[in-house]
Amino acid sequence: MYDPGRPKSCGCATKRTRFTPGVNGGTLSLLKGSEELSAVVEAFNRRGTTEPGLDVEGEALLQLRKACRILDGIRALRDIDRHHTLVVEGSFAALERTAQFYVIDRGLVESDEMQSHEDAFEYGAQAGVFSQPTKDELIELWKNHRNETYYQQERATAEQAAAMLEYAECMHDHVPRLAGRAHDCIC
Ligand SMILES: [Zn+2]
Repeated sequence: MYDPGRPKSCGCATKRTRFTPGVNGGTLSLLKGSEELSAVVEAFNRRGTTEPGLDVEGEALLQLRKACRILDGIRALRDIDRHHTLVVEGSFAALERTAQFYVIDRGLVESDEMQSHEDAFEYGAQAGVFSQPTKDELIELWKNHRNETYYQQERATAEQAAAMLEYAECMHDHVPRLAGRAHDCIC
């Protein structure tokens, strides 16, 4: 059971003990990790407090509101000015949710038919949210960003973060209007 009175720790660091760290230390940190993980599982298994704006009915509206919330979060990160990677990734996520909102709202696809990051952009292009060349460019940008920052020695820059967020905001402003649902955006 999770004990909220425990000292604050993520349980990631291996505790120094009188045992050999390479053997027993590893086991200890694993056990400690399991306790923390059961608190996570418990939290995921029960209803709790949701963010403002997400207590809505309807799959399309929920996707739109998720985009609103992501944008709200990454604007705050942009203002802190040291989270370029998260701002780039959040911008893509907000774009994806915004496109999902549109295609679900138009009844073109069910949300569970969109399995990959590319799907939302693909369906978005089919629905006229993006042109085909824009969609191709977005998917290319996303893949390059992921490959370079996850698997290669590249880093996201402040300029990339600013440009991506501006583009995501622009699309997020445009798409609900296109659907005649600008009033549903809470940005
Ligand atoms: Zn919004």
